[in-house]
Amino acid sequence: MLEIDLENRVAVVTGGSRGIGRACDETLAQAGARCVIGYHDPRSAEEVDSMVEEIGRLGGEAVAYCGDLTVGANCREIVDLAVRNFGAVHVVVNNAGMWRRAEFETMTEAQLLETVELNLKTVFRVTQFAAKVMRNQPHGGTIIQIASTAGERGEAHYSHYAATKGATIAMVKSLARELGPRIRVNCVSPGWIETDMTADALQGDQRRSIERSIPLGRVGQPTDVANAVAYLSSDLASWVTGTVLRVNGGAVLVDE
Ligand code: NAP
Repeated sequence: MLEIDLENRVAVVTGGSRGIGRACDETLAQAGARCVIGYHDPRSAEEVDSMVEEIGRLGGEAVAYCGDLTVGANCREIVDLAVRNFGAVHVVVNNAGMWRRAEFETMTEAQLLETVELNLKTVFRVTQFAAKVMRNQPHGGTIIQIASTAGERGEAHYSHYAATKGATIAMVKSLARELGPRIRVNCVSPGWIETDMTADALQGDQRRSIERSIPLGRVGQPTDVANAVAYLSSDLASWVTGTVLRVNGGAVLVDE
């Protein structure tokens, strides 16, 4: 039987306490990876501790990292934690991100920079520290950035968010060229996924209208994205780099 096997791999997932990141940690652990679960808000600690316990109960291993990744030193620390605990870093999933509405004509510099800091600068910094570790490992490593349909087709009232995700896609293509052959770099570009981030938007008539616009007729679940991340993390994708794997129920096709 063909299966995704991440036995003996170490994965770092940023924003692993909730939503897509949490599903990534759980799925990668299920496939055998030892995981670092990154998060920021100390109020998420209890939830994350119970994730660590549950992964352990199922025979896996995970540790938690709490820190604000917009602080550069923390981007190094989360990678170092994986090396200290598990001896290596084979998979990095840059997932932590924010999506806050701001009309373009009144957007402040603070609103712009807040989004750039987390959605782009953090992705650069974590990737940079991880690449330095991966480069010296016998089997290199793989980096997966979580982009967005917004970065492909744009999104009204979220131009700053869309710009960071479009930049992430361009960065992935550049790094695939620069860091190969030892390091593969890809991104998953999700459409509407049901998480805390989208809870307000996915209500009532608006949800029904969004669902009607998606060829596969439903919004996505975090595991839809996590399954794509697991594939890209594994040797099944050993000749895949620089790609944008769309996980959106066909949504981008509608605009093409
Ligand atoms: P979410 O439910 O809001 O979770 C965000 C995660 O990021 C949480 O784990 C949060 O940790 C962490 N985080 C926030 N600020 C941080 C910081 N400064 N430092 C470190 N970690 C921080 O988000 P989601 O919906 O799962 O989205 C995850 C990723 O997918 C994002 O990059 C988003 O842009 C992208 N995406 C989402 C959708 C969607 O429809 N949901 C669609 C396309 C792309 P705490 O729990 O500690 O706050």
